Amino acid sequence: AKRAGGNSLRFYQDVESSIQVRDRLLVETDLRRALLQDEITVYYQPKIDCCTTGIVGVEALARWKHPTNGLLTPADFIDVAEETGLILPLGETVLRLACQQGRIWFDEGCGIPLAVNVSVRELEQPNFTARVLKVIEETGFPADQLELEVTETVAMADPEGLQNTIHPLREAGVRFAIDDFGTGYSSLAYLQRLPFDTFKIDRSFISGLGVEDSNRLIVQTILAMAQSLNFDVVAEGVETLEQHSILREIGCATAQGYLFGAPMAADMFAIWRAGFSCTFCMPGSCVTEPV
Ligand code: C2E
Ligand code: MG
Ligand code: MG
Ligand code: MG
Repeated sequence: AKRAGGNSLRFYQDVESSIQVRDRLLVETDLRRALLQDEITVYYQPKIDCCTTGIVGVEALARWKHPTNGLLTPADFIDVAEETGLILPLGETVLRLACQQGRIWFDEGCGIPLAVNVSVRELEQPNFTARVLKVIEETGFPADQLELEVTETVAMADPEGLQNTIHPLREAGVRFAIDDFGTGYSSLAYLQRLPFDTFKIDRSFISGLGVEDSNRLIVQTILAMAQSLNFDVVAEGVETLEQHSILREIGCATAQGYLFGAPMAADMFAIWRAGFSCTFCMPGSCVTEPV
């Protein structure tokens, strides 16, 4: 009976993983179709100056307008896209749409710096730089207003190689950010050699601000480190006034999160932006240097 139990457990695991395999195949086929039928769209989330709460930039985030399943977020499709290589056409689609929209905002006189997420898999393509430069040229988005966000991962193993690959982009003024900073295992020596400009502190540290003192210390340490390595800092996932006020107290320059604005379609973003005012700002409560 014991042996039978073991076998049936394995049986259920096999069934489960074959369901996963089947689901993944379905997503892959569906995503291929979606890319051809323009179902991929871009949402925009504001980046806020912690002191003034003015808008200092916007991050482009992929969405999938699925004909039957509604609006899907990256959690539903990014893994499959990465595994199948579909992240390459997907990434290019998002970059192109975001730069087109970004260009429109510049033409309308309300230009704003734009950040676009890029997966390591894209970054490793030999023609990555050429493709990004082509999109910049074709859309006419100002290269020095573009930042590419790459999730911190051990996969970025070769800073010097990376430096060579992206050199022409950096020459053109494109900036690079480490996304979800603090979730990887980067050493200081490694970070220093990365040709990047910005740390985006992962939401997991921000959500604990005001709850556990250790989180405040961690964020302060990241701020101090960023300052000595000459990186800019963005706090991700700010949801409460308390988190915002602690960030301001400890000198974090920039923040993003539902407290200020969730990701929105371009037209909603324009409406939101027109009505957004400095409701959170308490004059005199800011420090500009990390303490
Ligand atoms: P990310 O780049 O770190 O983006 C931040 C994510 O946190 C977004 O989720 C955003 O909607 C969410 N977020 C923002 N503020 C808050 C908050 O206050 N609270 C909470 N709980 N969440 C908040 P989203 O849009 O689902 O994207 C998830 C991840 O998928 C992104 O994380 C990014 O790594 C990846 N991603 C999104 N678009 C693209 C893309 O075009 N290309 C690639 N390669 N990756 C993408
Ligand atoms: Mg990001
Ligand atoms: Mg990320
Ligand atoms: Mg992040």
